[in-house]
Amino acid sequence: MGILLGAIADDFTGATDLANTLVKEGMRVVQTIGVPDAATATGDVDAVVVALKSRSAQVVDAVSQSLEALRWLQAQGAEQIVFKYCSTFDSTPDGNIGPVADAVRAELGAGCAIVCPAFPDTSRTIYKGHLFVGELPLHESSMKDHPLTPMRDSSLIRLMKAQSDAEVGLVPLQTVRDGADAVRNAIKSLAVEGIGYAVVDALDDADLRVIGTAARDHPLITGGSGVATGLPQNFRSRGLLGAPAKACAPVVAGRELVLAGSCSAATRGQIARAKETWPTRKIVVDRIAAGDDVVGDLANWALGQHDEAPVLIYASADPEEVRQVQAIYGVEKAGAMVEEVMGALAARLNRAGFGRLVVAGGETSGAVVSALGVNALRIGPEIAPGVPWSEGIGTLPLALALKSGNFGGPDFFEEAFEVVR
Ligand code: ADP
Repeated sequence: MGILLGAIADDFTGATDLANTLVKEGMRVVQTIGVPDAATATGDVDAVVVALKSRSAQVVDAVSQSLEALRWLQAQGAEQIVFKYCSTFDSTPDGNIGPVADAVRAELGAGCAIVCPAFPDTSRTIYKGHLFVGELPLHESSMKDHPLTPMRDSSLIRLMKAQSDAEVGLVPLQTVRDGADAVRNAIKSLAVEGIGYAVVDALDDADLRVIGTAARDHPLITGGSGVATGLPQNFRSRGLLGAPAKACAPVVAGRELVLAGSCSAATRGQIARAKETWPTRKIVVDRIAAGDDVVGDLANWALGQHDEAPVLIYASADPEEVRQVQAIYGVEKAGAMVEEVMGALAARLNRAGFGRLVVAGGETSGAVVSALGVNALRIGPEIAPGVPWSEGIGTLPLALALKSGNFGGPDFFEEAFEVVR
């Protein structure tokens, strides 16, 4: 039997967020890194989320990668496709969300597709077609100053119109509150008028479930992970998906390692907590720059620690120290040097029997995943909001928890390992 749901995500952490949401709703989910090749076996799963790096790619590349992902997902039997982008609609006026949505919609022959990036858990809501971040409309939030994708308009209708070839309409909150049939009929009416996208208002999770139910027969849904919350139930009510069950933690033997490259306040707090009890070493950027065998030294040190103890290696530093390092080596070079060491350490220590890895930092996670040669991950149970355990497919024994810097409470590292012990 093929998969039920396929998703195309425009970045890695967004893909994990969506995969985690689907797992919590009782689906068995694999996340692939890029479009899988013929050799990648995803096994018997309900959904596959293909993680692309298309958010910041050139439009033509984003479209071709997305169509390649679509065709692969269709070949796996996916009945419904989610195109996942950021809950703050991160993109430029000639950005990729519209062109990718247009191409996927055309390929699927979808009528009017939902546009709903709302994510109430992180205070992203949509009202009268305007996207809010907490109390503020998007264009007044900190997103107005984002270095790559400054958001200067809050109207999803205008934003989508600027990027897409199609007309864009609105399904207002009142219709959502009237229930799934009302939403379905409203979208049908928009489709009859030839409108290609329906921005749908949503203030809370109940609204998102209504929208998910209404989307039962839609070949394409676009938005954040929130709008996908209601989709698994549609398959369940058709008898295609079993009763919701808690995801199994990966069963992977092996030693425990934390690699922390995030310099966020949350990660630095987690490091401070772990240092109280675990063997810990810091990566010194000057030593990498001087050409010392930092990887060899740290790997030998880690292997020399007591078998039972988790080991923590970090580069994380406070903002002043990071500024100094960046002033000497440049922002990109400093980051790249640390990421290369993190990747090499992960690969070397995994080969030497470290089977359970927690990685802190989005870019750091990307470097580790690519150094480990991970093509696909089976998504397991959630450790903290937005951070699941996962298990490498086709790798050496490997349980991975990839955490973006600011996620998790002060005891996150210990809590993570508790789940897989
Ligand atoms: P976050 O998820 O918090 O943004 P990332 O891993 O995405 O974390 O980004 C952190 C960046 O900072 C990485 O490129 C990492 O290599 C870099 N970095 C980590 N430690 C240092 C340091 N001491 N000096 C300079 N850069 C560092």
